[in-house]
Amino acid sequence: VIMMGQAEHSKITTCAYCGVGCSFKAEMKGNEVVRMVPNKDGHANHGHSCVKGRFAWGYATHKDRMLKPMIRKNITDPWNEVSWDEALAYAASEFRRIQAKFGKDSIGGITSSRCTNEETYLVQKLVRAAFGNNNVDTCARVCHSPTGFGLKQTLGESAGTQTFDSVMKSDVIMVIGANPTAAHPVFASQMKRRLRQGAKLIVIDPRTTELVKSPHIQADYHLKLRPGTNVAVITALAHVIISESLFDAEFVAERCDTQSFSDWKEFVLHADNSPEAVEAITGVSAADLRGAARLFAAGNNGAIYYGLGVTEHSQGSTMVMGIANLAMATGNVGREGVGVNPLRGQNNVQGSCDMGSFPHELPGYRHISDTTVRTQFEEAWQCILDPEPGLRIPNMFEAAIDGSFMGLYCEGEDIAQSDPNTQHVTAALSAMECIVVQDLFLNETAKYAHVFLPGSSFLEKDGTFTNAERRISRVRKVMPAKAGKSDWEVTVALSNALGYPMRYKHPSEIMDEIAALTPTFHGVSYKKIDELGSIQWPCNDAAPNGTPTMHIGEFVRGKGKFINTQFFATSEKITRKFPLILTTGRILSQYNVGAQTRRTENVQWHSEDVLEIHPHDAEDRGIKENNWVGIESRAGQTVLRAIITDRVQPGVVYTTFHFPESGANVITTDNSDWATNCPEYKVTAVQVMPVAQP
Ligand code: SF4
Repeated sequence: VIMMGQAEHSKITTCAYCGVGCSFKAEMKGNEVVRMVPNKDGHANHGHSCVKGRFAWGYATHKDRMLKPMIRKNITDPWNEVSWDEALAYAASEFRRIQAKFGKDSIGGITSSRCTNEETYLVQKLVRAAFGNNNVDTCARVCHSPTGFGLKQTLGESAGTQTFDSVMKSDVIMVIGANPTAAHPVFASQMKRRLRQGAKLIVIDPRTTELVKSPHIQADYHLKLRPGTNVAVITALAHVIISESLFDAEFVAERCDTQSFSDWKEFVLHADNSPEAVEAITGVSAADLRGAARLFAAGNNGAIYYGLGVTEHSQGSTMVMGIANLAMATGNVGREGVGVNPLRGQNNVQGSCDMGSFPHELPGYRHISDTTVRTQFEEAWQCILDPEPGLRIPNMFEAAIDGSFMGLYCEGEDIAQSDPNTQHVTAALSAMECIVVQDLFLNETAKYAHVFLPGSSFLEKDGTFTNAERRISRVRKVMPAKAGKSDWEVTVALSNALGYPMRYKHPSEIMDEIAALTPTFHGVSYKKIDELGSIQWPCNDAAPNGTPTMHIGEFVRGKGKFINTQFFATSEKITRKFPLILTTGRILSQYNVGAQTRRTENVQWHSEDVLEIHPHDAEDRGIKENNWVGIESRAGQTVLRAIITDRVQPGVVYTTFHFPESGANVITTDNSDWATNCPEYKVTAVQVMPVAQP
């Protein structure tokens, strides 16, 4: 896969994997990549890279790439290769047939954080303007939707507050529910550099990650909590900070809504929120909770970084607000070295949300019911927009099973593998009359599709990605689209086939439209990105070169708002039948559902998902290292190989979700975050027993 030889030409582009968004020079020989060289001028990576970005681009030319549009009447029929025009005309006629039969709200679209900003913008525009409804959603639904909700409520903007470089000014770093060494390796290296310089580290995680204990780093506190008790922990930390008067009274008085602070203060001081009271719930000692709270409050600059271990819970949004509360109470917002920093799993999670791909929000997080905003888009798009929010992904599945949602356009997202409770998802997909999948590969979702539109890799298109620091970087086309069309051109062609005209000659024109319609993007253009290298939004008249640190002097919402974070135990209970809690995560060499990394050289590193189980639980069940084990939950069952380790605590088992045959999501349930429906991937009650090799 890695071709050696002399490069003939090169272009700077952006990694297609994680939310760090590393900049690379793609060195080319003709239309073949010779190598990817980390860009020393890259603002997010400063010349560094990880194994995925550096080596795992072979998927772009893998033999599994599908390069011809295909259609079939029934999902049991063989695929027929057809022309682009025929495939698009068929998809459009099917969508219109379904709408005529079941109503205009019977179809929708799903976009992905793997799509560029421009592609995602077009998908939501297609749904709103050409489909005539708001049934558009993104895979951020299943990862960081609670971040968008929680940070908007408290700070006023659905985004992280800092640059990655900000960590070099932190004195105390709190990492919650994140494993950056595996999932955000380049940023993890930077964080570790700061830790080696003496910054203190608090890790809140049910598992002993590499960050907790490695040759040169030892966490000062590892709060190894029971999965599902995040909110009890964060509120107990707040209890200590308030009860011991460790909060930043001046910051709160000047910068925050003091009434909300008074209410919150009264709430956190309740005896039920004390470390001693929550010790039995969380499994974390009161002494450690007190010690960690004091350490965090003592730092001049305290920064909080968090991942999906925060958001993918039934109280994901509550926990995000709890993190924001803690940052505000300790005065840790609005300068370098501090802040609330969601680590986005995919390269364009932030951008996907920014571009209006949620069913209730237009680009720039403006509610669809806002008449002024809607009118602005109606005039620009020459259409009438529905003021009612549309269906979220889980609602689409329910409506499909009920017979009222029958058509889906799905770009760059493998919902059949990545969404929870696979049986439920596939039942919904099977019920639909027309599914259009646009992807590089015939993925799991394509098994239920009627139209397949070949996608293009990041090497075959122009566009932008927005990383976890709100940094907009260019994706540059270094080779022609192998299937003849880049992804944005496919969406444009589908819209035209549906009778809603889209006319763009280049993705820069799409960005110009985004900038014209989105206040936080008013100053963004390809020309300016080329000049500056990258831009962190907001970028407008008030901040013509972008905004590295947010909420300086004033929160986006004016005064920072504290919100009470009452802990409720998840409804996913352990029982005698399901006595263990399964939680999930990532490993360094693979990426999400593995569609890309499984098709590159680095698949050699790690070729299966395994189940980590504590020695006590293994012994109780007669499980030996590398034994095959059956895992059963209320949703389903699967089989994995067992690894016996005290990285997990007794009563907790852990796996990754990179291989479809492992079926991690066959066993995860339908439970979800109360505010956003983000699935509760991180807590599933299971039983584990030895089985014969499958
Ligand atoms: Fe790509 Fe993330 Fe690795 Fe950077 S850290 S090279 S963005 S996968």
